[in-house]
Amino acid sequence: ATTSTSEIIEQTEKHGARNYHPLPIVISQAEGVWVEDPEGNRYIDMLSAYSALNQGHRHPKIIQALKDQADKVTLTSRAFHNDQLGLFYDKVSALTGKELVLPMNTGAEAVETAIKAARRWGYHQKGIEKDQAEIIGCHGNFHGRTMTAVSLAAEANDTSGFGPMLPGIKTIPYGDLDSLKEAITPNTAAFLVEPIQGEGGVVIPPEGFLREAQALCKEHNVLFIADEIQTGLCRTGQTFACDWEEVEPDMYILGKALGGGVFPISCVAANEEVLGVFDPGSHGSTFGGNPLGAAVAIAALDVLENEKLAERSRRLGEYFRDRLRKIDNDKIKEIRGKGLFIGVELTVPARSYCEELKQAGLLCKETRENVIRFAPPLVISEEDLDWALERIETTLAK
Ligand code: PLP
Repeated sequence: ATTSTSEIIEQTEKHGARNYHPLPIVISQAEGVWVEDPEGNRYIDMLSAYSALNQGHRHPKIIQALKDQADKVTLTSRAFHNDQLGLFYDKVSALTGKELVLPMNTGAEAVETAIKAARRWGYHQKGIEKDQAEIIGCHGNFHGRTMTAVSLAAEANDTSGFGPMLPGIKTIPYGDLDSLKEAITPNTAAFLVEPIQGEGGVVIPPEGFLREAQALCKEHNVLFIADEIQTGLCRTGQTFACDWEEVEPDMYILGKALGGGVFPISCVAANEEVLGVFDPGSHGSTFGGNPLGAAVAIAALDVLENEKLAERSRRLGEYFRDRLRKIDNDKIKEIRGKGLFIGVELTVPARSYCEELKQAGLLCKETRENVIRFAPPLVISEEDLDWALERIETTLAK
């Protein structure tokens, strides 16, 4: 007999560190937008592993690339070349318009990479005095869980018992141009921003903020770095969320859907003047740039492009929000989003709604206390989206 959900959860919790509190569901099978538990119950996935599954679960073309590459070579380390990495670089360079790309594995590592690059650029190119470089971040941003990433978003993380935080970091209120202006000093190397805050609750900055922040950075010779790990790769209805304001950042940080929900791969992309600051030995990763990840990422990017998932996200996102806006419930405070990156802010805690939606066959998770984030795989069909919306309408009307 198949092991049951409760047995699996019990086994998982026995030796697992308790740094997560998942919903009590075990996913043992998945395809496209649908997942299944060991008992055979089916659910529609409206979280997409925090937007790492933009291409859907087990996209056949991405799985094929994984299998094909697994039959050739999986890991070389960067002590040697492999025949996939250059193809991956070409692809990311074409997508971002940047000259250089540096591959890592997880989002947090790519953020680390961006900060190291920005600091070194600050010293080598901008002429900041030794160890004085400053990075400006934003309240409510989320950049991952390493010490650097946590230090950059200290007020949004539980930092108790983890100090001291990384020095040389300032944060400003998200979307506040005047605060950014005040925070910039001759020692500022970079401004790091999520173009739409994901973990912060799908928060969209005031119209024009990104454009004006970029202009301000340019004026003061400060790098404008966009953390597009969650918002990038078609999630918001454009290739990058920065595209909504026609902003081209000095550096892109990418992850999540870059690996097509199959393999962890992340990267930063920037021009020679910025990423050229790394020389051999100054940065790296044993698995970063491995041929298996590179082959998967190439396929993952091909799927986004060939299936026109940015366009699809934009169109279905508008439809989704239109239907949500018709729900009559005064507990709904705001419905916001771009593309299929949608936040429903409630005046009450969102957890019980997420639990009820799970009962109805729909998986999503609250972000912050009061926000339900809906971010289905971008390959979702109109029929499946309607199926989900019917359940959302019934549940949210309560
Ligand atoms: N940056 C943003 C904007 C994210 O949303 C996340 C993950 O949620 C990260 C960085 C960290 O990525 P990872 O969990 O792969 O380290």
